[in-house]
Amino acid sequence: MYDVFVFDGGLKLSKHSRSFLKIQDGCSQFCSFCIVPFARGLNRSIPPQVVLQSLRDLGSQGVDEVVLTGIHLGTYGKDLNPRTSFFDLLRLINFERPVKRVRLSSIDPEEISPDLIALLAGSDFFCPHLHLPLQSGDNAILKKMRRHYTGEYFIDLCQKILEKRSDFCLGTDVIVGFPTETEKAFKRTVQVLKDSGLSYLHVFPYSERLGTKAALFSYPVSLEEKKVRSRYLRQVSEKLRKQFYQKFIGFTRPAILENRRRGLTALTDNYISVEIKDLDQYVVGSLVNVTIEGLTGPIAYGRIVENQSHSAFYI
Ligand code: SF4
Repeated sequence: MYDVFVFDGGLKLSKHSRSFLKIQDGCSQFCSFCIVPFARGLNRSIPPQVVLQSLRDLGSQGVDEVVLTGIHLGTYGKDLNPRTSFFDLLRLINFERPVKRVRLSSIDPEEISPDLIALLAGSDFFCPHLHLPLQSGDNAILKKMRRHYTGEYFIDLCQKILEKRSDFCLGTDVIVGFPTETEKAFKRTVQVLKDSGLSYLHVFPYSERLGTKAALFSYPVSLEEKKVRSRYLRQVSEKLRKQFYQKFIGFTRPAILENRRRGLTALTDNYISVEIKDLDQYVVGSLVNVTIEGLTGPIAYGRIVENQSHSAFYI
């Protein structure tokens, strides 16, 4: 059975260029702050052959990029009989390549194995982009959150990925103002974020979810303090993103044309959103090569180059 959640086989909307294929739902981890396991149930996965068939269908509809999504992707396949893993699924997909490229959505840091890094880094099929939710860089807070890694582990993981491929875009989620988060604990998180080589942050001020363990914790952080810390981290994120974009000025990357709120843009394999002026003759959703020419503030701009393979950025 794979109709354990609403499986749509990949949503392709005419206005959108990429398709999102949800291959897993629910979560069995019960992080202390999270309502998902109560609201969405435990981990359930779509069998590999069904995932592959959906990718074939999307490929035949002309979808060039598919984003594999799930609530807790790293646990994909643990519920299936026979049991399988996210890594094994990716190997199958990589072998067949039913679409032009695949991007992964968020994966928990402790679920990134050396084999997975080698597979992703050694492939021109998987986008060099990973979103690794850290939540906090302070080990005492991580323990209270019921997250099973440390700040040191996270830095080491990011460095290992970037050693293999320096063009990887690494992003993360951070929860700001978790109960008992002192100024010192927050500073530790900031340091971990800065030492990891990340390219952007998604910042979430902690908000209590009734029914979770964390809702019973003492020593809440004030609303005002959460605002101050969040504002600071958003500024850090802007700087990181800009530094990352700057590294690629003058380089050509494969990119998919998208219809965004601010107009037509191209999203590179390593998650740089590039504004393109001369898009009239191109079809939204198609894969092109884009040279990044510069930045206007935080926005990258560039042009499409015909018949040119992208310049690799491996240092
Ligand atoms: S934060 Fe993620 S891993 Fe933790 S319980 Fe929620 S969905 Fe599961």
